[in-house]
Amino acid sequence: MKYKRSEYWKDQPKSDRAKSMNKRFNSYIQKRKARDKKVLERENLLKVIGDKCLICGSKKRLFLHEVYGKKHPSDYSYILSHAKDFVPLCYKCHMSVHWLMSVFKLSWIQILSVVEYSKSL
Ligand SMILES: [Zn+2]
Repeated sequence: MKYKRSEYWKDQPKSDRAKSMNKRFNSYIQKRKARDKKVLERENLLKVIGDKCLICGSKKRLFLHEVYGKKHPSDYSYILSHAKDFVPLCYKCHMSVHWLMSVFKLSWIQILSVVEYSKSL
């Protein structure tokens, strides 16, 4: 038989319900804390690396792009300690950069010179 949540708890001892609520609350708090920590870490990374897209200047949907195309861990401490290898790019520019890299096999330096050239037009 399938219980509705409210009906299920009617048949359970009160302490079980309290325990379960407690467990759910604690796991919520833990997830919330982890999320808050991630938000702070990201804010700090954007402070260190830059908070607007290097190509178009947008501040929306920023990605931290690893300029050498190396595979890298995406954790806070790695990016912070290799901050000079990362640049902020918005979603669209990040997609474009990866497209240029994969289709034309351009390096980051070549992509930058294309960007500089198109800005000078
Ligand atoms: Zn951009």
